[in-house]
Amino acid sequence: MQKRRLAILGSTGSIGTQALEVIEANPDIFEIEALTAQNNADLLIEQAAKFRPNLVVISNESLYEKVFQALDPLDIKVYTGNKSLIAAVELASVDMVLTALVGYVGLIPTIAAIRAGKHIALANKETLVVAGELITDLASKHRVDILPVDSEHSAIFQCLVGEFHNPIEKIILTASGGPFRGKNRDFLKNVSKEQALKHPNWSMGAKITIDSASLMNKGLEVIEAKWLFGLETKQIEVIVHPQSIIHSIVQFEDGSMKAQMGLPDMRVPIQFAIAYPNRLKSDFPRFDFTQYPTLSFEKPDLETFRNLGFAFEALNRGGNMACIVNAANEIAVEAFLKDKISFLGMSDLIEKCMNKVNFIQTPSLEDYIQTDEATRKLALEFL
Ligand code: MG
Repeated sequence: MQKRRLAILGSTGSIGTQALEVIEANPDIFEIEALTAQNNADLLIEQAAKFRPNLVVISNESLYEKVFQALDPLDIKVYTGNKSLIAAVELASVDMVLTALVGYVGLIPTIAAIRAGKHIALANKETLVVAGELITDLASKHRVDILPVDSEHSAIFQCLVGEFHNPIEKIILTASGGPFRGKNRDFLKNVSKEQALKHPNWSMGAKITIDSASLMNKGLEVIEAKWLFGLETKQIEVIVHPQSIIHSIVQFEDGSMKAQMGLPDMRVPIQFAIAYPNRLKSDFPRFDFTQYPTLSFEKPDLETFRNLGFAFEALNRGGNMACIVNAANEIAVEAFLKDKISFLGMSDLIEKCMNKVNFIQTPSLEDYIQTDEATRKLALEFL
């Protein structure tokens, strides 16, 4: 296998650090060309000193001097500002970009990477939620692969390998249900961020952990799946599976179902995406059936967890509606983490924005950018 040269956007976050674990264990296969971080200068410096990329980006400009002083002697170029992310993805020596940024900020660098002909290992689901049609069209035009890192979408993709010519009847995305599975609205009225941040199975960043508790994460994943696999909304189902062992399921037209399983460990889907089409040997913990005598499944509770329903509604309405949902949710989660809004208040805020922001049936990139801005502004006013 020829060495694969990577740029990692968001290298100091949960996905970024786990990707570097995979890369460190496979030095003959991967090379790091660029690393980028928003604020964690110390970890970025440590990573760069170890992996010796061509360049790093520290987006927060006030931290530039610190990073520059540390890495210039090592002959590593240091850039700052969000625009520099474009320079990182356009580097001629990069084959693949792992987009591990959180939220809408991933959109513009991902577009730049696709235009530069780089394959995408997509961990930034919001990019496909906001502008799925535009991104998938652009990727096919530039003959770029978008390889899912999200565990559910990786599961579906793994089930489809060798089956790409066989139509999908439907897919079933599994959801752990998060820390509030089985609770009612009365209970959720007063839950704290500390309670919401305690995910039962997965260790992830704060934004996605709150999204998991509210089932918004599953809603965003439904939208992500539609665009990744070219599905109709009615071909996508969600089932709650509290053990998080079956990562998702594909049902083909003969009625046969394929599922991908394993312990919940993000390094598995990260590794599958960046090494595709190869499977690399790993020493990650293995699943043991005797430790899990029961795998259970239940219907999601859409009355309590309204965000999942909003995502389906956004898909049915199309246009810029998913972009509105995403922007409103980003503001809602931020406000919840700062104790400015209640857990259930997050859904109310998203609903208000869906009703108020200008709907556009066939948005351009400019329209998406404006929709995101307008929604954030409105959501902040509602707070
Ligand atoms: Mg997921």
